[in-house]
Amino acid sequence: MGNGWVLVENHKGVTGYAQRHHLAFNVEAKSPAIAYFAWKEAATKFEEGLATTFPDPILYLNMCKAPHCKPNKEKGAGIRACVHDMATLLQGSGKLTYSYVKVERNHWHPDKVSRLYPESQNDEFKNKAQGLFVLIGVVMEKIQASTAPK
Ligand SMILES: [Zn+2]
Repeated sequence: MGNGWVLVENHKGVTGYAQRHHLAFNVEAKSPAIAYFAWKEAATKFEEGLATTFPDPILYLNMCKAPHCKPNKEKGAGIRACVHDMATLLQGSGKLTYSYVKVERNHWHPDKVSRLYPESQNDEFKNKAQGLFVLIGVVMEKIQASTAPK
């Protein structure tokens, strides 16, 4: 086998060769890295002005079981992901640093989203982007607090 091919085994115990760049979809399908990759793909489409639905983070990763996070997660509108899930999702990028997360946050600036989706029926997009912008801001604060000199 040439470069990039690896022996894999699926959940039924069937083995075969797969290309390394496809491998991520076959194993650890619930890892933050996979969730991040899928979310990022939807987020990129959103940034290109091509989205028909909002890339809600909670649809990609919903792992936090903290009781105080639960009520918000069950509410219908807005961003339902909690800061813990958001941090885990962003951690899936493999680079959970303040500067990196700041770049992620800027994608969701409400003004930018208003320009991308000027139609009034996209209020949902604007509201959710606003919520996501704030939520990622909280992740940034947490990173800053954990890395600040004591
Ligand atoms: Zn939580």
